[in-house]
Amino acid sequence: GSVLEIRDLHVTVGEGNDAKEILRGVDLTVRAGETHAIMGPNGSGKSTLAYSIAGHPKYTITGGTVTLDGEDVLEMSVDERARAGLFLAMQYPVEVPGVSVSNFLRTAATAIKGEAPKLRTWVKDVKSEMAQLEMNPAFAERNVNEGFSGGEKKRHEILQMRLLKPRIAILDETDSGLDVDALRVVSEGVNRTREEGQVGVLLITHYTRILRYITPDFVHVFVNGKIVEEGGAELAEKLESEGYASYLKAAAEGN
Ligand code: ADP
Ligand code: MG
Ligand code: MG
Repeated sequence: GSVLEIRDLHVTVGEGNDAKEILRGVDLTVRAGETHAIMGPNGSGKSTLAYSIAGHPKYTITGGTVTLDGEDVLEMSVDERARAGLFLAMQYPVEVPGVSVSNFLRTAATAIKGEAPKLRTWVKDVKSEMAQLEMNPAFAERNVNEGFSGGEKKRHEILQMRLLKPRIAILDETDSGLDVDALRVVSEGVNRTREEGQVGVLLITHYTRILRYITPDFVHVFVNGKIVEEGGAELAEKLESEGYASYLKAAAEGN
């Protein structure tokens, strides 16, 4: 199976005198079949980690490595990253005016696989996944992200993940702004992917709520640009009851 390896990753945002180091030496290994939760307070750099792996131009890698099955991810274009099997669902997905969900998904699948999926099976797969995500079939003909509610954006992200079948899926705040029903449906989508066993999932979240539906194999506490503690699912329970205060205090004291 695939493996994503992040080693001593350092990332800054801003230019010149305004440059600020956000990631300060991140080490993480995600293997196919594993689900990792990265949990941390707002502003700790969780999205910066996701954007850096995605190749967002605002983020400058100043040190460290990211590899997927030994290949240098940081050398790849954004498209190459997707073709290599990296999937990144973003916290603030952009609108794609004039492109329907259905066409967008088929174009993405074609770009990733190098050939267009067979129309009949594709249409069937899209319908089936949408039904499982409790999405109205009419959604397929809407323009991507145009007027999507928070819940529709998240379902669309999970729909993409289900259909594009990545090796490593990075989900940033997939739980934010979801009501209980949407959270359950989205979580079930992630769990179906997990059960297939071929994917490594990196679930980035501020809240422990989603972890009632998705039990991670590993939990990493992320504070001030780095991982400060690691454990199993029980660590999420500790965070649920105790929050991040003690970690923030330790970080402020420079530990
Ligand atoms: P999190 O996702 O954990 O809430 P972020 O990665 O969004 O944290 O942000 C970490 C820090 O980096 C914050 O102080 C934020 O203001 C800063 N930051 C993130 N992205 C940018 C950017 N594009 N330009 C300037 N500052 C940024
Ligand atoms: Mg370092
Ligand atoms: Mg974030």
